[in-house]
This record gives sequence, structure tokens and C-alpha cells, in this order.
Amino acid sequence: MDSTSSLTPVSVANTQDGAKPGNLGPEPCPVCGQAGAQEWLRAPDRFHGRRESYTLARCPACSLVWLVHPPMPAEMYLHYTDAYHKLISSSGENSPERWRGRKSVLTAHQQSGALLDMGCSSGAFLESLRGNAWKLYGIEMSANGARTAEARSGAEVFVGNILDAPFPRESFDVITCFDVLEHLYDPREVMARVGEWLKPGGIFYVLVPNVDSAEARLFGSYWQGLELPRHLFHYSPASLRSLAESAGLREVSLETRRNPSVGTSLRYVWDDVLLAVGIRQTPAA
Ligand SMILES: [Zn+2]
Repeated sequence: MDSTSSLTPVSVANTQDGAKPGNLGPEPCPVCGQAGAQEWLRAPDRFHGRRESYTLARCPACSLVWLVHPPMPAEMYLHYTDAYHKLISSSGENSPERWRGRKSVLTAHQQSGALLDMGCSSGAFLESLRGNAWKLYGIEMSANGARTAEARSGAEVFVGNILDAPFPRESFDVITCFDVLEHLYDPREVMARVGEWLKPGGIFYVLVPNVDSAEARLFGSYWQGLELPRHLFHYSPASLRSLAESAGLREVSLETRRNPSVGTSLRYVWDDVLLAVGIRQTPAA
């Protein structure tokens, strides 16, 4: 399936009152191709405290959840505000133990070689690998982020979309992708590119929010991992495995961990409780 068909809207209008729950029509799952997607839930952009409601569909076969009628790519910048970017960069800078943890997971499997960090932001993870063992590369949408990443890590950073990066086949021993895959419009194409760019026996290390987690089920539309409409796809271990296998990758290790930002989900619940009694909180943004 190509990227345009994964963007094709299913047959329910994304409005607060016009849509009916139930079968969303013939649009197949963008990862495994299974028909019969059901509406899973609706929720607004709670981070910015906006009112527009978004609809998510769930694949009955692989459990992938995706945003029905996502904003067009050209309009997506409206949903990535300064407040959002500030939050992302400060959470990266303020948690060196996070990068140490990821580095130790990586080095349990591979200790040196060429490494590409897809969506490297300002390069905090690349910097944690700086040294003789690694030849470092990054891909980053923001030119400012890429310059910072290059300066602090010594990496070579491509500015732009992952699918536009000109790396030759079998370039990397390791590709990492932290909190990025769920933002991408065309996960199958990106995963196929990962399969091409990895050397034989290379490692892809990816982190995404787990839509099958106890936290996601407990909080429902308040779950912080929804991040609507910036998160276009919501993966479970099963759908992530299905996506990786579509590109010829094989699962080596899969771990689920507690989300350190569970407080944000609680805050979203509390915002609505207060709203119900007439108190409008300033949004998280
Ligand atoms: Zn599926």
C-alpha cells in the first residue's frame, strides 16, 4: 500500500455530532490490510485544550489504531506549537538518565558501528554515544534542531523527511527511532526504508507509546499517549511486530515499560472534572 492510500479517509465524517459509531466501511488497515475497522474512540487535543474531536479506528486483526481524517501534512504545523516544541526539547534535556537507559539497552546488542537516529531532535541521544565506537548520523525535520545535534554530537544530520534522506542501502549497523514513528504518515514506507538501510544483522531500536497498555485502557480518551492529532498511529506490541515483519525485520526483543508521564493523563481527567463544575483550567500547553 502506498502513502496516499494510508491517508485515504474512511467513510465517517470527523465531526462531533455527524458521525455514528460502528463499522467504518471498507478502508483496510494501513499496516496489515485487514478490512472491517471499527471506531475505537474520540478525543480532542487535550494538550492544547482545543475542542475539535478526532476519531480513531482500530484494526480487528493486528490491533493497530489510527487517526481517521488526519490533518493534511501542509496543515500539521498548526498542531505543533511553540509550547509543544518547548515541552519536547525540555523533556529531552532534563532527563540524562533516559538517554543512559536507552544506551544501555542498545549496547546489550551492539557496541559500535554506524548508527542513524531518525528524528534525532536536538541530538541528546546522539551526544550520549559520542566517542570512537560510533559513526553517528541523524535525520531531523527542524534545521535548528539538526544544527544543534551536529554541534553537540559530531553527527552528520540530514534535514528533512525520513523518506527523502539519501543514504545508500546497507549503511547502518543500528537505526534508532524514539517517540517518532507514531507521528509519521507512512509507517510502512518508513519501515521498508529501515529494512533497506540496515546492514544484514543490523538492529532497529524503536520506542512508541503502547496503546494496549493498562494505562491506555484505564484513561481511554484521557490517555496522554493519544497526543491528538500529532500521533497518527497508535501501536501495540502486535501491530508493531506486524509492521516490522512487513519490512522483513524479525523481533529480537520487546519490552513494555511504565510511562513516566502518567501524571499528564491524570491532569487531563482533572481538567474535565473542573470544567464540569464551571472552572476552566489553563491548558497544559
Ligand atoms: Zn491491521
